[in-house]
Amino acid sequence: MIYITNPDSPIEKVPLPWSIGRIRIPHPDSLISPTTTPIKPDTSNEPIISFHSVTKIYTLESGNVTGIEEVTFDIYPGEFIAVMGPSGSGKSTLLDMMGCLDVPNNGDIWITGQNTRMMSDNQLTDLRLHTIGFIFQYFNLFPLFSALKNVQYPYVVRTGRSGDNKRAEEALTSVGLESKFWHHRPNQLSGGQQQRVAIARALVNDPPIILCDEPTGNLDTKTGKAIMDLLSYLSKHEGRTVVMVTHDPRTAEYADRIIRIVDGRVENGVS
Ligand code: ADP
Ligand code: MG
Repeated sequence: MIYITNPDSPIEKVPLPWSIGRIRIPHPDSLISPTTTPIKPDTSNEPIISFHSVTKIYTLESGNVTGIEEVTFDIYPGEFIAVMGPSGSGKSTLLDMMGCLDVPNNGDIWITGQNTRMMSDNQLTDLRLHTIGFIFQYFNLFPLFSALKNVQYPYVVRTGRSGDNKRAEEALTSVGLESKFWHHRPNQLSGGQQQRVAIARALVNDPPIILCDEPTGNLDTKTGKAIMDLLSYLSKHEGRTVVMVTHDPRTAEYADRIIRIVDGRVENGVS
């Protein structure tokens, strides 16, 4: 039997099966010293995410505001990327563009080899549902839905199988949320538990790309570390591509590479 530590209850360990679909959960010790061989990012093939001269300008009554300007970079399958920069520099704008939540004014965004520029709203929704899991800064859970229903939602949108709880239960198990919490609403859960629900929701459709905006910004240090270990695991041991916005250098240490952004522009390419 494999265990993962429940950060909301330090001495309690939640039993988990070794493998749940593609999601494999390590022993907590192996999070620190993994027993399986980490998957190296594949930089020899096509990028999984590619920005070519991407500009996003917000038009307000008071004038135009630059979100990001002429941003170009490639991200390869399995990479763990931190996007860093001062407040207001365009980090969230960049992530929203990457997640196809909004469209740029100029430039091209390629996701899994597909140029998103000519895609209709329906095609973008389809791409998002199959390819991208988005973890929002403030969790963005539906307040009236249980944890289980929140996680199930994108699965039902993708498959139409509204009576099928199995996949949502697997995703919640994979992030270490005990079943006694599955029917709680977000306001009946701690910050760490809400973030686990948000991660489970991002994983429910088994996407190759995970995007997260300040995933530990609203969590205490210990819970934040457990969430970072989980994200790191999704990258290093499942080969998912993780792009994380953060302003915290300690959180950025988990990443393979940092994209720095200042005043909407990527600084000196990619470090
Ligand atoms: P960060 O996440 O780095 O703090 P953002 O991407 O949120 O930065 O913001 C970059 C710039 O774009 C800021 O000047 C911000 O005010 C502006 N901005 C972001 N989103 C919007 C929006 N929806 N409408 C208008 N301006 C926006
Ligand atoms: Mg932001």
